[in-house]
Amino acid sequence: AKDNGESKTDVLIIGAGPSGLMAAYWMARCGINARIVDKRGTKVFTGQADGLRMRTLELFDSIGFQHRVQQEGHVAVEANFWVPDGKGNLIRQGPHCSSKANESPFRNMLLNQGRIERFLLDSIQAHSDLQVERGVIAETFEYDEKMEDDPNGYPITVKLRTLSDEEANPSSLRVTETNHTAAARGVARGNLLLDDWNELVTRSRAKETKSEIVKAKYLIGCDGAHSWTRKQVNIPLEGSTTDHVWGVIDVVPISDFPDIRRLGTVTHASGTILVIPRERNMVRLYVPVQTIEAVTTSEGRFDRSKITLEIIKQRVQVIFAPYTFDFQVCDWWAAYQIGQRIAPTFSKGNRIFLAGDAVHTHSPKVGLGMNMSMQDGFNIGWKVALVASGVAQPSILGTYDAERHRLAEMLLDFDRHWSGLFTEGDEESKPQNMIKVVELFEDFADGRKSFYGASELVWKLENDRDQPAARHLTPGERFPPVKLRMQADGNLRWTTRLLESDGRFRVVILAGDMREATQKDRVLALTQSLSGSDENESLVLDHYTPIVGHFDSAIDVIAIHSAPWTEVEFFDFPKILRPFDPVRGWNYDKIWCDDACIWNKDCDGKGYERWGVDRMRGAMVVVRPDQYIGWVGELEEVDELTRYLDGVLIRKAANNCPH
Ligand code: FAD
Repeated sequence: AKDNGESKTDVLIIGAGPSGLMAAYWMARCGINARIVDKRGTKVFTGQADGLRMRTLELFDSIGFQHRVQQEGHVAVEANFWVPDGKGNLIRQGPHCSSKANESPFRNMLLNQGRIERFLLDSIQAHSDLQVERGVIAETFEYDEKMEDDPNGYPITVKLRTLSDEEANPSSLRVTETNHTAAARGVARGNLLLDDWNELVTRSRAKETKSEIVKAKYLIGCDGAHSWTRKQVNIPLEGSTTDHVWGVIDVVPISDFPDIRRLGTVTHASGTILVIPRERNMVRLYVPVQTIEAVTTSEGRFDRSKITLEIIKQRVQVIFAPYTFDFQVCDWWAAYQIGQRIAPTFSKGNRIFLAGDAVHTHSPKVGLGMNMSMQDGFNIGWKVALVASGVAQPSILGTYDAERHRLAEMLLDFDRHWSGLFTEGDEESKPQNMIKVVELFEDFADGRKSFYGASELVWKLENDRDQPAARHLTPGERFPPVKLRMQADGNLRWTTRLLESDGRFRVVILAGDMREATQKDRVLALTQSLSGSDENESLVLDHYTPIVGHFDSAIDVIAIHSAPWTEVEFFDFPKILRPFDPVRGWNYDKIWCDDACIWNKDCDGKGYERWGVDRMRGAMVVVRPDQYIGWVGELEEVDELTRYLDGVLIRKAANNCPH
């Protein structure tokens, strides 16, 4: 291999699956000197994960591509459970629909992992020149612990090698137009959208391999279930693999089963199939195959390699009977064995972080693999980006493990409960047991609750008491979505989009009823302490290091007031909320109104009620760059707000980093 010498980068991301791309998004957004490599020659095109939970869709909205998922994906809200009626037929039980389905602008959806990777890649490209270096494998690793506390040090050394076309691209991708093997059928011009097809035909085709030494300040290992990075830092994956063997197929079904286009399960004495409707008329089926003799070895163990597409099909036919089942088109299929495993820690020395499947693996049937992995990448990405750019205190990196490990444990707990139901228990009580498990875990699974504990990033009141200023805005939880009107033009926007993931903390001034003179004075006094005035020395927003080249402050300020929009005017608000540029004019999108709108029922003017905030007095909230609430207080509590920000951000004078 040719030697390409040595280079330096602030952040190296290994693996460009969902978790790595999410972390890379933040690097692109915050202008970080970063690299992302993946040993595969291309992204995923077919198969693998497909479930998207509501919270993940909210995060997509904060990035700006939720609408693309909406256009291409399939909504799956109601579930039906089919069970034998004892007379040789199957009967429907359901539909079951979560009572909390409307607590988000978005419903759970299904769309292929490859499309999600596409949207993330496009978002990265929209903000920077950062490109995934494909066909590049990380091969050797060294870590110099002595440099751990030196913000300017590069303690990580990784050797990268560019792979040949043969090593980087599986055979199913190499003969795309003529390959008619079942596994490759989905990877054909007719099945791929133009952007994916273009990537496939222009994929890397390196002839010669070359290697390069890269020195990095931070390393994020997003390299999947067999994580190379995790092994380098000697972090084990603890847990077990069960004997349950499953087949998964993405097919266009030819079937008279009435709910073949609906989310649900079909139960038989020998196991339960999970039915998941997909885009392009496809359906994904998770099929238990461990009871089949053909895949059992002479020692009575299961041999996964013996499972074929035909075996899976026959199994579906048995379980679906008396309904018929067949297919001509199979986009993708695989056989897998369930295991629940978790790493005891997700980081080393606040320099090396592991995300996604690299630190937790479980059965795909809970539909959370991709969601959890992306949310891990989302959580660590902004923290590393802001620390690497000298904007945030390195101590915030410790919150990654604390916040995400707890959720990964819940994920495994959910999976144990849920997966067990597919192979155990009597047929009759199965639907009720399934609903019970779904209801027990749905706040966690859909992401309505994040369960992030107290830390420098999350200021909680003792004993998790309600915050009196805003009873339902809980530090460590998401900002409950509300549709608001823009004061200046009446256009509507969900808070999920308004609180854009651009790397900044947001001070949200819930300004209350600005028609009242005393309330207007309170808001004015607050904004003067934040932005300064001729007499005021305390320029809170000016204290902290900005995200150089992107924003002149690491903190954005917006206001949401509660008066009818017709009774207050844009120019009633303090200047900090309506910045003026002599060329570009006023910035109108910082002042919002929680006022009902007759032409859109989602905008019902009940945001303050949902947030538990007094419509007259308002409140103040700090929302972290990832849309989780960090701090809540009264409009006068500027000193406490400053203490919160001091614990997280670096003051300009104290910043000795050469960024
Ligand atoms: P991955 O998506 O695994 O990405 C890891 C990346 O790291 C890969 O692109 C790999 O090429 C790269 N990499 C690894 N080692 C190196 C190295 N040394 N150097 C450079 N690059 C490296 N989830 C579901 O929810 N439903 C499903 O039905 C489902 N089916 C699945 C079927 C299969 C065959 C697989 C593999 C996974 C499936 N999953 C499913 C899981 C889901 O795809 C994962 O949870 C999700 O992709 C995890 O994202 P990730 O970014 O953490 O890891």
